[in-house]
Amino acid sequence: MSEKFDVIVLGAGPAGYVAAIRCAQLGLKTACVEEWINKKGSPALGGTCLNVGCIPSKALLESSQIYYEASKGLSEHGIVVDGVRADVPQMISSKDKIVEELTGGIEHLFRANNITWLKGTGKLMPERQIAVQDSDGNTSAYSAENIILATGSKSIEIGAVPLHSDVVVDSSGALDWESVPQKLCVIGAGVIGLELGSVWRRLGAEVVVLEAQDVFLPMVDQQIAKDSFRQFTRQGLDIKLGARVMSSQVDGNGVSLQYTDSSGEQNLTVDRVIVAVGRRPNIEQLTDPETDLLMDERGLVHVNDACETNLPGVWAIGDLVRGPMLAHKGSEEGVAVAERIAGQHSHLNYDAIPSVIYTHPEISWVGKTEEQLKEAGREYKSGVFPFAASGRAKAQRDTGGMVKILSDKHTDELLGMHIVGGHSSELIGHGVTVMEFQGTSEDIARTVFAHPTLSEAIHEAALAADNRALHIPNRKR
Ligand code: FAD
Ligand code: AMP
Repeated sequence: MSEKFDVIVLGAGPAGYVAAIRCAQLGLKTACVEEWINKKGSPALGGTCLNVGCIPSKALLESSQIYYEASKGLSEHGIVVDGVRADVPQMISSKDKIVEELTGGIEHLFRANNITWLKGTGKLMPERQIAVQDSDGNTSAYSAENIILATGSKSIEIGAVPLHSDVVVDSSGALDWESVPQKLCVIGAGVIGLELGSVWRRLGAEVVVLEAQDVFLPMVDQQIAKDSFRQFTRQGLDIKLGARVMSSQVDGNGVSLQYTDSSGEQNLTVDRVIVAVGRRPNIEQLTDPETDLLMDERGLVHVNDACETNLPGVWAIGDLVRGPMLAHKGSEEGVAVAERIAGQHSHLNYDAIPSVIYTHPEISWVGKTEEQLKEAGREYKSGVFPFAASGRAKAQRDTGGMVKILSDKHTDELLGMHIVGGHSSELIGHGVTVMEFQGTSEDIARTVFAHPTLSEAIHEAALAADNRALHIPNRKR
Protein backbone atom coordinates (compact mmCIF):
# COMPACT_ATOMS: atom_id res chain seq x y z
CA MET A 1 0.00 0.00 0.00
CA SER A 2 1.33 3.41 -0.94
CA GLU A 3 1.45 6.11 1.73
CA LYS A 4 -1.62 8.33 1.46
CA PHE A 5 -1.81 12.12 1.89
CA ASP A 6 -4.66 14.60 1.68
CA VAL A 7 -2.58 16.68 -0.72
CA ILE A 8 0.62 16.08 -2.68
CA VAL A 9 2.20 19.12 -4.31
CA LEU A 10 4.63 18.56 -7.20
CA GLY A 11 7.30 21.25 -7.17
CA ALA A 12 8.45 23.55 -4.36
CA GLY A 13 8.81 26.88 -6.16
CA PRO A 14 6.85 29.92 -4.94
CA ALA A 15 3.64 28.36 -6.29
CA GLY A 16 4.15 24.88 -4.83
CA TYR A 17 5.77 25.62 -1.47
CA VAL A 18 3.18 28.30 -0.67
CA ALA A 19 0.36 25.92 -1.66
CA ALA A 20 1.88 23.25 0.63
CA ILE A 21 2.17 25.66 3.58
CA ARG A 22 -1.43 26.88 3.17
CA CYS A 23 -2.71 23.27 2.87
CA ALA A 24 -0.88 22.33 6.07
CA GLN A 25 -2.24 25.41 7.86
CA LEU A 26 -5.74 24.25 6.93
CA GLY A 27 -5.13 20.89 8.62
CA LEU A 28 -4.47 18.81 5.50
CA LYS A 29 -1.84 16.05 5.59
CA THR A 30 0.54 17.43 2.99
CA ALA A 31 3.60 16.26 1.06
CA CYS A 32 5.66 18.19 -1.49
CA VAL A 33 7.89 16.55 -4.12
CA GLU A 34 10.99 18.52 -5.13
CA GLU A 35 13.99 17.40 -7.16
CA TRP A 36 16.19 20.55 -7.13
CA ILE A 37 19.89 20.02 -6.41
CA ASN A 38 21.74 23.25 -5.60
CA LYS A 39 25.28 24.41 -6.51
CA LYS A 40 26.70 22.54 -3.50
CA GLY A 41 25.03 19.31 -4.61
CA SER A 42 22.40 19.37 -1.87
CA PRO A 43 18.62 19.07 -2.32
CA ALA A 44 16.95 22.48 -2.05
CA LEU A 45 13.47 23.96 -1.89
CA GLY A 46 12.35 27.31 -3.37
CA GLY A 47 12.36 26.52 -7.10
CA THR A 48 13.50 28.88 -9.83
CA CYS A 49 12.52 31.97 -7.85
CA LEU A 50 14.76 31.42 -4.85
CA ASN A 51 17.59 29.47 -6.49
CA VAL A 52 18.14 31.04 -9.93
CA GLY A 53 15.43 33.66 -10.43
CA CYS A 54 13.85 36.53 -8.52
CA ILE A 55 16.12 36.55 -5.49
CA PRO A 56 19.61 35.99 -6.94
CA SER A 57 18.90 38.41 -9.81
CA LYS A 58 17.78 41.08 -7.34
CA ALA A 59 20.85 40.45 -5.16
CA LEU A 60 23.13 41.10 -8.16
CA LEU A 61 21.04 44.05 -9.38
CA GLU A 62 21.46 45.63 -5.93
CA SER A 63 25.23 44.97 -5.70
CA SER A 64 25.90 46.16 -9.26
CA GLN A 65 23.83 49.34 -8.76
CA ILE A 66 25.74 50.21 -5.57
CA TYR A 67 29.02 49.65 -7.43
CA TYR A 68 27.80 51.79 -10.34
CA GLU A 69 26.73 54.63 -8.04
CA ALA A 70 29.95 54.48 -6.03
CA SER A 71 32.02 54.67 -9.18
CA LYS A 72 29.88 57.10 -11.21
CA GLY A 73 27.02 58.65 -9.29
CA LEU A 74 28.27 60.11 -6.02
CA SER A 75 30.04 63.27 -7.20
CA GLU A 76 26.69 65.06 -7.53
CA HIS A 77 26.23 64.49 -3.79
CA GLY A 78 29.66 66.01 -3.13
CA ILE A 79 31.16 62.64 -2.27
CA VAL A 80 34.50 61.72 -3.74
CA VAL A 81 35.34 58.02 -3.80
CA ASP A 82 38.61 56.89 -5.27
CA GLY A 83 39.74 53.44 -6.25
CA VAL A 84 36.33 51.76 -6.40
CA ARG A 85 36.53 48.29 -7.89
CA ALA A 86 34.15 45.38 -8.19
CA ASP A 87 35.03 42.10 -6.45
CA VAL A 88 32.76 39.96 -8.63
CA PRO A 89 33.52 36.57 -6.98
CA GLN A 90 32.54 38.16 -3.63
CA MET A 91 29.30 39.52 -5.16
CA ILE A 92 28.47 36.03 -6.41
CA SER A 93 29.24 34.35 -3.10
CA SER A 94 27.22 36.98 -1.20
CA LYS A 95 24.32 36.26 -3.58
CA ASP A 96 24.77 32.51 -2.99
CA LYS A 97 24.63 33.06 0.78
CA ILE A 98 21.29 34.89 0.47
CA VAL A 99 19.94 32.03 -1.67
CA GLU A 100 21.12 29.45 0.85
CA GLU A 101 19.55 31.30 3.78
CA LEU A 102 16.21 31.70 2.02
CA THR A 103 15.98 28.15 0.68
CA GLY A 104 16.98 26.88 4.15
CA GLY A 105 14.17 29.05 5.51
CA ILE A 106 11.60 27.18 3.40
CA GLU A 107 12.95 23.88 4.75
CA HIS A 108 12.42 25.24 8.26
CA LEU A 109 8.85 26.28 7.36
CA PHE A 110 8.15 22.79 5.99
CA ARG A 111 9.28 21.26 9.28
CA ALA A 112 7.29 23.78 11.33
CA ASN A 113 4.14 22.96 9.34
CA ASN A 114 4.70 19.18 9.32
CA ILE A 115 4.98 19.04 5.54
CA THR A 116 6.69 15.91 4.23
CA TRP A 117 9.38 16.73 1.66
CA LEU A 118 9.62 13.85 -0.82
CA LYS A 119 13.07 14.36 -2.37
CA GLY A 120 13.17 13.33 -6.01
CA THR A 121 11.35 13.59 -9.31
CA GLY A 122 7.60 13.15 -9.20
CA LYS A 123 5.37 11.77 -11.92
CA LEU A 124 1.58 11.95 -12.05
CA MET A 125 0.12 8.44 -12.43
CA PRO A 126 -3.54 7.44 -12.97
CA GLU A 127 -5.92 7.52 -9.97
CA ARG A 128 -4.12 10.39 -8.21
CA GLN A 129 -1.00 8.35 -7.60
CA ILE A 130 2.42 9.96 -7.61
CA ALA A 131 5.62 8.02 -8.37
CA VAL A 132 8.74 9.61 -6.88
CA GLN A 133 12.17 8.61 -8.15
CA ASP A 134 15.02 9.51 -5.80
CA SER A 135 18.61 10.34 -6.77
CA ASP A 136 19.60 6.64 -6.48
CA GLY A 137 16.96 5.72 -9.05
CA ASN A 138 14.61 4.09 -6.52
CA THR A 139 10.91 4.73 -7.08
CA SER A 140 8.23 4.97 -4.39
CA ALA A 141 4.49 5.40 -4.86
CA TYR A 142 2.21 7.76 -2.95
CA SER A 143 -1.43 8.72 -3.34
CA ALA A 144 -3.56 11.70 -2.40
CA GLU A 145 -7.13 13.01 -2.46
CA ASN A 146 -5.83 16.08 -4.25
CA ILE A 147 -2.72 16.73 -6.30
CA ILE A 148 -1.34 20.18 -7.12
CA LEU A 149 1.00 20.37 -10.10
CA ALA A 150 3.50 23.23 -9.67
CA THR A 151 6.57 22.16 -11.62
CA GLY A 152 7.23 25.62 -13.03
CA SER A 153 9.25 26.51 -16.07
CA LYS A 154 12.71 26.54 -17.59
CA SER A 155 14.61 28.73 -20.06
CA ILE A 156 13.83 28.28 -23.74
CA GLU A 157 16.86 27.27 -25.79
CA ILE A 158 17.16 28.24 -29.46
CA GLY A 159 18.86 26.17 -32.14
CA ALA A 160 20.50 29.30 -33.58
CA VAL A 161 22.49 29.88 -30.39
CA PRO A 162 23.13 26.64 -28.47
CA LEU A 163 24.40 27.03 -24.89
CA HIS A 164 28.18 26.58 -24.61
CA SER A 165 29.87 26.09 -21.18
CA ASP A 166 30.11 29.52 -19.52
CA VAL A 167 30.41 31.44 -22.81
CA VAL A 168 26.84 31.14 -24.13
CA VAL A 169 24.56 30.84 -21.11
CA ASP A 170 20.94 31.05 -20.04
CA SER A 171 19.77 33.26 -17.16
CA SER A 172 21.06 30.79 -14.53
CA GLY A 173 24.56 30.83 -16.04
CA ALA A 174 24.57 34.64 -16.15
CA LEU A 175 23.97 34.72 -12.38
CA ASP A 176 27.22 32.83 -11.76
CA TRP A 177 29.89 34.53 -13.88
CA GLU A 178 32.85 35.44 -11.70
CA SER A 179 34.36 37.91 -14.20
CA VAL A 180 32.95 40.74 -16.28
CA PRO A 181 32.82 40.10 -20.04
CA GLN A 182 34.30 42.91 -22.10
CA LYS A 183 31.56 42.66 -24.72
CA LEU A 184 28.29 40.92 -24.01
CA CYS A 185 25.30 40.15 -26.23
CA VAL A 186 21.91 39.57 -24.62
CA ILE A 187 19.40 37.86 -26.92
CA GLY A 188 15.89 38.98 -26.01
CA ALA A 189 14.89 42.38 -24.58
CA GLY A 190 12.31 40.90 -22.22
CA VAL A 191 12.23 41.29 -18.44
CA ILE A 192 15.05 38.83 -17.75
CA GLY A 193 17.27 40.04 -20.62
CA LEU A 194 17.02 43.66 -19.50
CA GLU A 195 17.68 42.85 -15.83
CA LEU A 196 20.73 40.69 -16.52
CA GLY A 197 22.01 43.04 -19.23
CA SER A 198 21.81 45.86 -16.66
CA VAL A 199 23.79 43.89 -14.06
CA TRP A 200 26.72 43.29 -16.41
CA ARG A 201 26.53 46.77 -17.98
CA ARG A 202 26.84 48.38 -14.53
CA LEU A 203 29.83 46.18 -13.79
CA GLY A 204 31.55 47.50 -16.93
CA ALA A 205 30.60 45.26 -19.88
CA GLU A 206 29.75 46.74 -23.25
CA VAL A 207 26.23 45.35 -23.78
CA VAL A 208 24.31 44.82 -27.02
CA VAL A 209 20.73 43.56 -26.73
CA LEU A 210 19.25 41.93 -29.84
CA GLU A 211 15.46 41.81 -29.91
CA ALA A 212 13.50 40.21 -32.75
CA GLN A 213 10.37 42.33 -32.28
CA ASP A 214 10.16 45.90 -33.60
CA VAL A 215 8.33 47.16 -30.53
CA PHE A 216 10.20 47.58 -27.24
CA LEU A 217 8.40 45.93 -24.30
CA PRO A 218 5.06 45.40 -26.09
CA MET A 219 3.34 44.38 -22.85
CA VAL A 220 4.22 47.72 -21.21
CA ASP A 221 2.30 50.99 -21.73
CA GLN A 222 4.18 52.46 -24.70
CA GLN A 223 4.63 55.94 -23.20
CA ILE A 224 6.42 54.26 -20.28
CA ALA A 225 8.32 51.85 -22.56
CA LYS A 226 9.61 54.69 -24.75
CA ASP A 227 10.76 56.69 -21.73
CA SER A 228 12.59 53.67 -20.30
CA PHE A 229 14.17 52.90 -23.69
CA ARG A 230 15.69 56.41 -23.70
CA GLN A 231 17.01 55.95 -20.16
CA PHE A 232 18.51 52.51 -20.91
CA THR A 233 20.16 53.88 -24.04
CA ARG A 234 21.70 56.71 -22.01
CA GLN A 235 23.13 54.09 -19.63
CA GLY A 236 24.89 52.51 -22.59
CA LEU A 237 22.63 49.51 -23.22
CA ASP A 238 22.69 49.20 -27.01
CA ILE A 239 19.21 47.77 -27.68
CA LYS A 240 18.68 46.79 -31.32
CA LEU A 241 15.02 46.19 -32.18
CA GLY A 242 13.87 44.13 -35.17
CA ALA A 243 17.10 42.12 -34.86
CA ARG A 244 16.54 38.37 -35.12
CA VAL A 245 19.49 36.12 -34.35
CA MET A 246 19.81 33.42 -37.00
CA SER A 247 23.06 31.56 -36.22
CA SER A 248 26.21 31.63 -34.10
CA GLN A 249 29.66 30.08 -33.76
CA VAL A 250 31.90 29.81 -30.73
CA ASP A 251 35.68 29.84 -31.20
CA GLY A 252 38.78 30.89 -29.28
CA ASN A 253 38.00 34.58 -29.90
CA GLY A 254 34.50 34.50 -28.48
CA VAL A 255 31.11 34.20 -30.14
CA SER A 256 30.15 35.34 -33.65
CA LEU A 257 26.47 36.02 -34.13
CA GLN A 258 24.59 36.49 -37.36
CA TYR A 259 21.32 38.39 -37.19
CA THR A 260 18.93 40.04 -39.62
CA ASP A 261 17.46 43.51 -39.26
CA SER A 262 15.72 45.96 -41.60
CA SER A 263 19.03 46.60 -43.43
CA GLY A 264 19.75 42.92 -44.08
CA GLU A 265 22.25 40.46 -42.59
CA GLN A 266 24.53 41.64 -39.79
CA ASN A 267 27.45 40.18 -37.83
CA LEU A 268 28.40 40.74 -34.23
CA THR A 269 31.36 39.36 -32.30
CA VAL A 270 31.25 39.31 -28.51
CA ASP A 271 32.99 37.57 -25.60
CA ARG A 272 29.86 36.10 -24.09
CA VAL A 273 26.14 35.69 -24.75
CA ILE A 274 23.06 35.44 -22.54
CA VAL A 275 20.12 33.73 -24.21
CA ALA A 276 16.99 35.22 -22.63
CA VAL A 277 14.23 34.43 -25.11
CA GLY A 278 11.56 33.33 -22.67
CA ARG A 279 10.57 30.33 -20.56
CA ARG A 280 8.54 27.18 -21.18
CA PRO A 281 6.65 24.90 -18.81
CA ASN A 282 8.30 21.89 -17.15
CA ILE A 283 6.02 19.18 -18.50
CA GLU A 284 8.43 16.56 -19.80
CA GLN A 285 8.24 13.42 -17.64
CA LEU A 286 5.51 15.09 -15.57
CA THR A 287 2.79 12.58 -16.41
CA ASP A 288 2.53 8.91 -17.12
CA PRO A 289 1.17 8.27 -20.68
CA GLU A 290 -1.87 6.60 -19.05
CA THR A 291 -2.99 9.91 -17.53
CA ASP A 292 -4.89 12.11 -19.94
CA LEU A 293 -3.81 15.50 -18.65
CA LEU A 294 -5.03 18.15 -21.08
CA MET A 295 -2.58 20.76 -22.41
CA ASP A 296 -3.55 24.09 -23.97
CA GLU A 297 -2.52 25.51 -27.35
CA ARG A 298 0.64 27.05 -25.82
CA GLY A 299 1.81 23.74 -24.33
CA LEU A 300 0.84 24.77 -20.78
CA VAL A 301 -1.31 22.59 -18.52
CA HIS A 302 -4.91 23.51 -19.28
CA VAL A 303 -6.83 24.84 -16.26
CA ASN A 304 -10.09 26.69 -15.66
CA ASP A 305 -10.38 29.91 -13.63
CA ALA A 306 -10.16 27.86 -10.43
CA CYS A 307 -6.89 26.14 -11.49
CA GLU A 308 -8.64 22.77 -11.94
CA THR A 309 -7.23 20.55 -14.70
CA ASN A 310 -9.41 18.16 -16.72
CA LEU A 311 -8.62 15.39 -14.17
CA PRO A 312 -10.78 15.38 -11.01
CA GLY A 313 -8.76 16.30 -7.91
CA VAL A 314 -5.75 17.41 -9.97
CA TRP A 315 -4.94 21.14 -9.91
CA ALA A 316 -2.18 23.15 -11.58
CA ILE A 317 -0.67 26.52 -10.66
CA GLY A 318 2.22 28.91 -11.31
CA ASP A 319 4.39 29.04 -14.44
CA LEU A 320 2.91 25.72 -15.55
CA VAL A 321 -0.43 27.38 -16.42
CA ARG A 322 -1.78 30.43 -18.29
CA GLY A 323 -1.20 33.94 -16.98
CA PRO A 324 1.97 35.90 -16.32
CA MET A 325 5.06 33.91 -15.29
CA LEU A 326 5.47 35.69 -11.97
CA ALA A 327 6.27 34.33 -8.53
CA HIS A 328 3.50 36.21 -6.71
CA LYS A 329 0.89 35.08 -9.27
CA GLY A 330 1.87 31.44 -8.61
CA SER A 331 1.89 31.90 -4.83
CA GLU A 332 -1.58 33.43 -4.78
CA GLU A 333 -2.88 30.62 -6.99
CA GLY A 334 -1.32 28.22 -4.47
CA VAL A 335 -3.20 29.85 -1.59
CA ALA A 336 -6.46 29.92 -3.54
CA VAL A 337 -6.21 26.24 -4.54
CA ALA A 338 -5.35 25.14 -0.98
CA GLU A 339 -8.39 27.00 0.31
CA ARG A 340 -10.64 25.52 -2.39
CA ILE A 341 -9.42 22.02 -1.48
CA ALA A 342 -10.33 22.79 2.15
CA GLY A 343 -13.85 23.73 1.03
CA GLN A 344 -13.44 27.50 1.18
CA HIS A 345 -14.37 29.94 -1.59
CA SER A 346 -11.27 31.70 -2.71
CA HIS A 347 -10.91 34.19 -5.51
CA LEU A 348 -7.86 35.60 -7.27
CA ASN A 349 -8.24 38.86 -9.19
CA TYR A 350 -6.12 38.32 -12.31
CA ASP A 351 -6.81 41.94 -13.36
CA ALA A 352 -4.84 43.32 -10.43
CA ILE A 353 -1.53 41.44 -10.56
CA PRO A 354 1.44 43.82 -10.54
CA SER A 355 4.43 43.37 -12.86
CA VAL A 356 7.90 44.80 -12.30
CA ILE A 357 11.11 45.03 -14.31
CA TYR A 358 13.85 45.61 -11.73
CA THR A 359 16.17 47.67 -13.90
CA HIS A 360 17.15 51.22 -13.04
CA PRO A 361 14.75 52.88 -13.46
CA GLU A 362 12.33 50.20 -12.36
CA ILE A 363 9.27 49.70 -14.57
CA SER A 364 6.13 48.72 -12.65
CA TRP A 365 2.55 48.39 -13.72
CA VAL A 366 -0.86 47.00 -12.92
CA GLY A 367 -4.06 46.86 -14.97
CA LYS A 368 -4.58 47.97 -18.53
CA THR A 369 -2.20 49.94 -20.74
CA GLU A 370 -3.41 52.88 -22.85
CA GLU A 371 -3.00 50.70 -25.96
CA GLN A 372 -5.21 47.96 -24.48
CA LEU A 373 -7.93 50.47 -23.54
CA LYS A 374 -7.87 51.96 -27.05
CA GLU A 375 -8.11 48.51 -28.59
CA ALA A 376 -11.06 47.63 -26.34
CA GLY A 377 -12.78 50.91 -27.27
CA ARG A 378 -13.00 51.90 -23.60
CA GLU A 379 -13.24 55.63 -22.92
CA TYR A 380 -10.62 56.69 -20.39
CA LYS A 381 -8.87 59.64 -18.76
CA SER A 382 -5.14 59.75 -18.20
CA GLY A 383 -2.98 61.66 -15.76
CA VAL A 384 0.82 61.81 -15.92
CA PHE A 385 3.26 63.26 -13.40
CA PRO A 386 7.02 63.31 -14.09
CA PHE A 387 9.47 62.57 -11.27
CA ALA A 388 11.42 65.65 -12.49
CA ALA A 389 8.74 67.68 -10.65
CA SER A 390 9.02 65.64 -7.42
CA GLY A 391 10.96 67.23 -4.56
CA ARG A 392 11.95 63.83 -3.16
CA ALA A 393 13.17 62.56 -6.53
CA LYS A 394 15.24 65.74 -6.85
CA ALA A 395 16.71 65.23 -3.36
CA GLN A 396 17.59 61.70 -4.41
CA ARG A 397 19.17 63.00 -7.64
CA ASP A 398 17.02 60.45 -9.47
CA THR A 399 14.44 62.36 -11.49
CA GLY A 400 13.94 60.12 -14.55
CA GLY A 401 10.52 58.70 -15.36
CA MET A 402 6.89 59.30 -14.47
CA VAL A 403 3.67 57.97 -12.96
CA LYS A 404 0.75 57.45 -15.32
CA ILE A 405 -2.78 56.78 -14.22
CA LEU A 406 -5.62 55.56 -16.44
CA SER A 407 -9.21 55.67 -15.22
CA ASP A 408 -12.63 55.18 -16.74
CA LYS A 409 -13.87 58.39 -18.35
CA HIS A 410 -17.38 58.00 -16.92
CA THR A 411 -17.07 56.13 -13.61
CA ASP A 412 -13.47 57.24 -12.83
CA GLU A 413 -12.60 53.64 -11.75
CA LEU A 414 -8.85 53.10 -11.78
CA LEU A 415 -8.04 50.90 -14.79
CA GLY A 416 -4.25 51.01 -14.81
CA MET A 417 -1.19 52.46 -13.11
CA HIS A 418 2.16 52.56 -14.89
CA ILE A 419 5.38 53.83 -13.35
CA VAL A 420 8.90 54.15 -14.66
CA GLY A 421 11.35 55.49 -12.13
CA GLY A 422 13.34 55.07 -8.95
CA HIS A 423 11.99 52.36 -6.72
CA SER A 424 8.66 52.03 -8.47
CA SER A 425 8.32 48.37 -7.41
CA GLU A 426 7.53 49.70 -3.94
CA LEU A 427 5.06 52.30 -5.27
CA ILE A 428 2.94 50.09 -7.50
CA GLY A 429 1.29 48.50 -4.46
CA HIS A 430 -0.77 51.71 -4.10
CA GLY A 431 -2.27 51.07 -7.53
CA VAL A 432 -2.89 47.39 -6.79
CA THR A 433 -4.74 48.20 -3.56
CA VAL A 434 -6.92 50.84 -5.17
CA MET A 435 -7.77 48.47 -8.04
CA GLU A 436 -8.57 45.66 -5.57
CA PHE A 437 -11.04 48.00 -3.84
CA GLN A 438 -12.38 49.14 -7.22
CA GLY A 439 -11.34 52.65 -6.23
CA THR A 440 -11.21 55.70 -8.46
CA SER A 441 -8.57 58.24 -9.38
CA GLU A 442 -10.57 60.67 -7.22
CA ASP A 443 -10.03 58.31 -4.24
CA ILE A 444 -6.27 58.65 -4.82
CA ALA A 445 -6.58 62.40 -5.32
CA ARG A 446 -8.41 62.69 -1.94
CA THR A 447 -5.82 60.55 -0.11
CA VAL A 448 -3.08 62.28 1.90
CA PHE A 449 0.45 61.20 0.91
CA ALA A 450 3.47 61.98 3.08
CA HIS A 451 5.73 64.81 1.92
CA PRO A 452 8.33 64.53 0.57
CA THR A 453 7.94 61.04 -0.89
CA LEU A 454 8.01 59.54 -4.36
CA SER A 455 4.45 58.37 -3.73
CA GLU A 456 3.28 61.99 -4.03
CA ALA A 457 3.81 61.53 -7.76
CA ILE A 458 0.90 59.02 -7.69
CA HIS A 459 -1.26 61.63 -5.95
CA GLU A 460 -0.31 64.25 -8.53
CA ALA A 461 -0.93 61.87 -11.46
CA ALA A 462 -4.44 61.23 -10.07
CA LEU A 463 -5.01 64.99 -9.82
CA ALA A 464 -3.64 65.37 -13.37
CA ALA A 465 -6.26 62.88 -14.61
CA ASP A 466 -8.80 65.54 -13.58
CA ASN A 467 -6.66 68.39 -14.92
CA ARG A 468 -5.90 69.74 -11.44
CA ALA A 469 -2.32 68.71 -10.67
CA LEU A 470 -0.69 71.15 -8.28
CA HIS A 471 3.00 70.91 -9.15
CA ILE A 472 2.90 70.84 -12.97
CA PRO A 473 0.96 73.03 -15.39
CA ASN A 474 -2.33 71.42 -16.45
CA ARG A 475 -3.76 71.11 -19.93
CA LYS A 476 -5.60 74.27 -21.04
CA ARG A 477 -9.25 73.99 -19.93
P1 FAD B 1 9.41 27.24 -10.26
O1 FAD B 1 9.88 28.35 -9.40
O2 FAD B 1 10.03 27.04 -11.56
O3 FAD B 1 9.43 25.94 -9.38
C1 FAD B 1 9.11 24.68 -9.89
C2 FAD B 1 9.83 23.64 -9.08
O4 FAD B 1 9.37 22.35 -9.49
C3 FAD B 1 11.35 23.63 -9.28
O5 FAD B 1 11.96 23.71 -8.03
C4 FAD B 1 11.63 22.30 -9.97
O6 FAD B 1 12.85 21.72 -9.53
C5 FAD B 1 10.46 21.46 -9.49
N1 FAD B 1 10.13 20.36 -10.40
C6 FAD B 1 9.93 20.42 -11.75
N2 FAD B 1 9.57 19.21 -12.21
C7 FAD B 1 9.55 18.38 -11.13
C8 FAD B 1 9.21 17.02 -10.96
N3 FAD B 1 8.79 16.26 -11.98
N4 FAD B 1 9.32 16.51 -9.71
C9 FAD B 1 9.73 17.27 -8.67
N5 FAD B 1 10.01 18.55 -8.77
C10 FAD B 1 9.92 19.11 -9.99
N6 FAD B 1 9.20 36.53 -11.03
C11 FAD B 1 8.80 37.54 -10.25
O7 FAD B 1 7.64 37.57 -9.85
N7 FAD B 1 9.67 38.54 -9.87
C12 FAD B 1 10.95 38.56 -10.29
O8 FAD B 1 11.70 39.46 -9.93
C13 FAD B 1 11.41 37.51 -11.11
N8 FAD B 1 12.69 37.47 -11.53
C14 FAD B 1 13.13 36.40 -12.26
C15 FAD B 1 14.47 36.37 -12.65
C16 FAD B 1 14.95 35.30 -13.38
C17 FAD B 1 16.40 35.28 -13.78
C18 FAD B 1 14.08 34.21 -13.69
C19 FAD B 1 14.59 33.03 -14.45
C20 FAD B 1 12.75 34.25 -13.32
C21 FAD B 1 12.25 35.34 -12.61
N9 FAD B 1 10.91 35.42 -12.21
C22 FAD B 1 10.49 36.48 -11.45
C23 FAD B 1 9.94 34.37 -12.56
C24 FAD B 1 9.72 33.45 -11.36
O9 FAD B 1 10.95 32.89 -10.98
C25 FAD B 1 8.73 32.38 -11.73
O10 FAD B 1 7.53 32.97 -12.19
C26 FAD B 1 8.40 31.50 -10.51
O11 FAD B 1 9.56 30.90 -10.00
C27 FAD B 1 7.39 30.43 -10.90
O12 FAD B 1 7.09 29.69 -9.78
P2 FAD B 1 6.62 28.17 -9.86
O13 FAD B 1 6.50 27.71 -8.46
O14 FAD B 1 5.47 28.05 -10.77
O15 FAD B 1 7.81 27.41 -10.59
P1 AMP C 1 10.44 37.33 -22.51
O1 AMP C 1 9.55 36.22 -23.02
O2 AMP C 1 9.69 38.51 -21.94
O3 AMP C 1 11.51 36.85 -21.60
O4 AMP C 1 11.17 37.93 -23.80
C1 AMP C 1 11.96 37.17 -24.67
C2 AMP C 1 12.22 38.00 -25.90
O5 AMP C 1 13.17 37.33 -26.76
C3 AMP C 1 11.00 38.26 -26.77
O6 AMP C 1 10.77 39.64 -26.83
C4 AMP C 1 11.34 37.67 -28.12
O7 AMP C 1 10.87 38.48 -29.18
C5 AMP C 1 12.86 37.66 -28.12
N1 AMP C 1 13.45 36.67 -29.05
C6 AMP C 1 13.07 35.38 -29.23
N2 AMP C 1 13.86 34.75 -30.17
C7 AMP C 1 14.77 35.67 -30.60
C8 AMP C 1 15.86 35.67 -31.56
N3 AMP C 1 16.19 34.57 -32.26
N4 AMP C 1 16.57 36.82 -31.72
C9 AMP C 1 16.26 37.93 -31.01
N5 AMP C 1 15.26 37.99 -30.11
C10 AMP C 1 14.51 36.90 -29.89
